[in-house]
Amino acid sequence: MPTNHDNTALIADRALVKRWLDRVPAHEAVDAARAADYIGKIKALLHERNAVLVAHYYTDAALQALAEATGGVVADSLEMARFGAQSSATTLVVAGVRFMGETAKILSPEKTVLMPTLEATCSLDIGCPPHEFAAFRAQYPEHLAVVYANTSVGVKAISDWVVTSAIAVDVVEHLLDQGRQVIWAPDKHLGRYIQRKLGNSDDIVLWDGACIVHEEFKTRALLDMQQLYPDAAVLAHPEAPLAVLELAAVVGSTTQIIRAAKERSEPRFIVATDHGIFYKLQQQAPGKEFIMAPTSGEGATCRSCAQCPWMGMNTLQALYESLLHGSNEIQVDPALGQQALKPLQRMLDFRAQR
Ligand code: SF4
Repeated sequence: MPTNHDNTALIADRALVKRWLDRVPAHEAVDAARAADYIGKIKALLHERNAVLVAHYYTDAALQALAEATGGVVADSLEMARFGAQSSATTLVVAGVRFMGETAKILSPEKTVLMPTLEATCSLDIGCPPHEFAAFRAQYPEHLAVVYANTSVGVKAISDWVVTSAIAVDVVEHLLDQGRQVIWAPDKHLGRYIQRKLGNSDDIVLWDGACIVHEEFKTRALLDMQQLYPDAAVLAHPEAPLAVLELAAVVGSTTQIIRAAKERSEPRFIVATDHGIFYKLQQQAPGKEFIMAPTSGEGATCRSCAQCPWMGMNTLQALYESLLHGSNEIQVDPALGQQALKPLQRMLDFRAQR
């Protein structure tokens, strides 16, 4: 059996997360008048700069509402990038985390890509530095590298496929059917889920990374919650631990979770993904009840939670200042961007053929 790379200590750096949480609370306490003032100014600047706001499902509800109100989009990371590429705007303002801004720039190198902050990153991205991933890859020269979108441009550039959670199982299955072996990085929980779904753990080597938000969901507390709400279905993102996923009625990407909430008949849902998604869930499935899956319980290190500290750094004020000054522009080395585009394009082509 291959030995997994061990970078758990880096990913589990709670102190780092706490620093971010202390610095910028997930729900910034901006009073209503100030928020309205920012929103008015942001709308005017978007118009002036021929810019469009592209927001992730996990950002604050105010930003998601603003994106919708100004002709932008609220979506998962791939849809954000695709929307940006197809938009006639010359500037994309990406509210999310850094790899999302980079992906937008890779797909739209001719456009200016701004972010409310360049400090918003992701534990999966941090935990998979390009030079370490290159060394890991070199141990498996026959394997294809399939990486999650939550990686830096440097990691994408040395990979064969970039995939999102919505399509990860299909792509890996396709490659195994061709007799290939794969390296999956960086999320080990999603990797284990793929192994379990495909009934194959020998041909899929896992990098040892995790999302600090999703890995906090707790199985026993979730079982207790299910007792309390027997009519509720659990909707879970595959970045959560396998034991949590086994309790879920639906395991899927953010977009798939929203669709399930709309289409399923249950009156209430227990949701195991970032709390930011509640804005879209309530909008798309009004009248249904959504309950946050528990992140506390025996052995828990986090009672938060379910709120990504980096997503929380996207505030109205930061967005306004970025647009005002044209600051926090995403730069991607053109040659590296070209390299990273290949595995991304492979996924887009694969999806288009399905
Ligand atoms: S929620 Fe997890 S996967 Fe998403 S950006 Fe935050 S740390 Fe990364």
